[in-house]
Amino acid sequence: MAEEPCQCSDCQRFYKEHDRLIREFPTFKQQLELNWVSIQSFITLCNKVTHELQNELSERESAKDISLEERHISDTEITEALDELESVNAYIYSIEALMERIFDAKISNNIESKFKEIANELAPDPLNMDRLILNRLFHQNPDSPDKKNIS
Ligand SMILES: [Zn+2]
Repeated sequence: MAEEPCQCSDCQRFYKEHDRLIREFPTFKQQLELNWVSIQSFITLCNKVTHELQNELSERESAKDISLEERHISDTEITEALDELESVNAYIYSIEALMERIFDAKISNNIESKFKEIANELAPDPLNMDRLILNRLFHQNPDSPDKKNIS
């Protein structure tokens, strides 16, 4: 017997988000753009935070009279975070470089239609009437694994 997928709140949030991204970005091109912009926003935010932390550290070095109480983030915490962010940065730029190669893929309009068709099967609109009725039936089933998560 196949194992039931995990129904903890984190996994449920993941399934929901996963399906939403398929539903709202149902073509190859849209998925590619979505992932590209997602990586770019991650890079932008990490770089900005890194920059701010570096500034904060150097300001502290030039003004050593700031009392320890005024620092809600310790020097050690900043130094460790900068190390972490440096390695994250290296990985994320590798992902970016790999993604650039996916942009070379050529997908015809007919195949894009196939993507849409499959996306619709994988993640139908939850506000679609048929789906709402189906969900209601599902939640009424006492054996339903997620009956405890009705909102
Ligand atoms: Zn889980």
